[in-house]
Amino acid sequence: MIKVEKLSKKYPDKVALDDISVTFPAEETTAIVGPSGSGKSTLLHSLNLLERPTGGQLTIDGLSLDLNHSLAKSEVLEVRKQFGMVFQEKALFTHLTVLKNLTEGPIKVKKVSKEEALNRAHRLLAQFKMEELADRYPYQLSGGQQQRVAILRALAMEPKYLLLDEPTSALDPELEAQVLRVLKELAQKDTSMIIVTHNMAFAEQVADKIVFIDNGAVGYDGPTDGFFHSTDSRIKQFLGAMS
Ligand code: ATP
Ligand code: MG
Repeated sequence: MIKVEKLSKKYPDKVALDDISVTFPAEETTAIVGPSGSGKSTLLHSLNLLERPTGGQLTIDGLSLDLNHSLAKSEVLEVRKQFGMVFQEKALFTHLTVLKNLTEGPIKVKKVSKEEALNRAHRLLAQFKMEELADRYPYQLSGGQQQRVAILRALAMEPKYLLLDEPTSALDPELEAQVLRVLKELAQKDTSMIIVTHNMAFAEQVADKIVFIDNGAVGYDGPTDGFFHSTDSRIKQFLGAMS
């Protein structure tokens, strides 16, 4: 489980996150939702320290960090190792085939043997019925295929938690559906996922819990059902605007 306590991110002219406390359970899918500019990406990127919070506590399973002090490089690396990340815009290595995209990280960063990395890559491609893409380069893939490869590339590192920041917002609806199918399958396999999304139907179907971020504060933190059936006027207003 990831526990965030009194997490803040304060810019000189803007409080992006105002001492928020939330938890992200292991082996569950949590959707972070909320209006544009509310602080969703800032929260997600604070978990793997891609963005440096200005205060608070972060606990990732047994690893505890005090964010009120500057962190040692080794602490940051230890945190990063726990996470895989998928961005909005696909970010594959353009000069490498799909297969090499999947084996590069495990071999170079995780020091996995070449054989094991290849086995892992082929297993993932088979699992998601993408084997025929193995020898293609990213430019030979559709946007949806690229994004699915980006998800597999994150999974190839066998992270404890998978972070996704609007992984389908750059895709048209048909391609989005392909990517959402992959994520749904991962959710059913009890992958620990934290996903920022504007797609409320997807969040309702797939997430075990919802974190609603509203103007840098937590507007809801609880089971998915409770969020979509909430009587809270702010939540109802948000859901009304999203439908
Ligand atoms: P969206 O749905 O549009 O992606 P978001 O919920 O992910 O929005 P964030 O990107 O987390 O929002 O931004 C939260 C707030 O922090 C916004 O008001 C944004 O303008 C502000 N912000 C982000 N980066 C900076 C920065 N470097 N300096 C000042 N303010 C910033
Ligand atoms: Mg964002």
